[in-house]
Amino acid sequence: MSRILFSGMVLFTMANLSQAADPVVNDVVLGIHGGIGVDKKDMTPELEKDVRAGLRSALEAGHAKLKNGGTSLDAVEAAIRVMEDLPVFNAGKGAVFTNAGTNELDASIMEGKTKKAGAMAGVMTVKNPISGARAVMEKSKHVLLIGPGADAFAKQQGLEIVPPSYFSTEHRRKAIEEIWKREEEAKKRRSDAGEIPLELPRKKSEYGTVGAVSLDSAGNLAAGTSTGGMTNKMAGRVGDSPIIGAGTYADNEAAAISCTGHGEFFIRYSVSHEIVAQIKYRAVTAAAAAEDVINRQLKDAGGEGAAIVLDRSGKFTSAYNSEGLYRGCITRDGKIHVRVYEE
Ligand code: ASP
Repeated sequence: MSRILFSGMVLFTMANLSQAADPVVNDVVLGIHGGIGVDKKDMTPELEKDVRAGLRSALEAGHAKLKNGGTSLDAVEAAIRVMEDLPVFNAGKGAVFTNAGTNELDASIMEGKTKKAGAMAGVMTVKNPISGARAVMEKSKHVLLIGPGADAFAKQQGLEIVPPSYFSTEHRRKAIEEIWKREEEAKKRRSDAGEIPLELPRKKSEYGTVGAVSLDSAGNLAAGTSTGGMTNKMAGRVGDSPIIGAGTYADNEAAAISCTGHGEFFIRYSVSHEIVAQIKYRAVTAAAAAEDVINRQLKDAGGEGAAIVLDRSGKFTSAYNSEGLYRGCITRDGKIHVRVYEE
């Protein structure tokens, strides 16, 4: 059976598994996501406008780097920095709160040519954790730094340092307070009934994360991801975003991937590396691999989330098993596509 026919059959099968397969966009140099967003019923015109504008400016910033001779790594870092600075996304300013009322940030970046990577987890003072991750990759002999050691390294590298209060925003503060209140009420109800307290069901707005994938004119892929994690996570919890092979992966022989969603599942299923491995060893398309991992493996396991994928030939797609995914891409000639739900 020819490889094209085989890939086509896999795609057809995958398309039957999910409604949420995005069309593939060709000749893409930068793709991004801003998390799985909110349920349609919670979306407002103002929020959607801010999300779409934020995605556009991130794409423009990354594209400008590429146009001026920058690498895919430069484009990924630039696009993610824009989203980290925008409170509408759960990364940098506007990060969600932990159960201890802190904002603890995770980020990672990877280069597909050299397989070099850098990451930071649990930082509380680094204004742009994606730049911290890049500094770990380029200026240290390690891949992952955590906590105060990571904050200190960023400072020593001359990155912008801010007080922990910088990351706090009114809407995230309200969200955590509402969860704490619901938790207290649920605990009381169950203890009144003599039952053991259960974990409350999650709302989509408790997620978030931003990510980018890029392919430069030298044919080099890069990927990066940055997040505040999941709302009400335990202080000290680390999600998939700073874990290479889980939330982020880039391999010039296959694709660059950035993920978002319930991090524990993404770590256990090694999602970004699994997508790359399927492309390399099962010879399926990037779209089919992403669909299999997100809409079959993770979905069957109850893991909510998404991945954006840019393959080595510039084909961009995303797979999500949630209602939506804030996502976009820009082609070599500057054409921008932005989507929020199935459109
Ligand atoms: N994956 C992130 C984490 O688990 C959260 C998210 O993407 O929304 O920390």
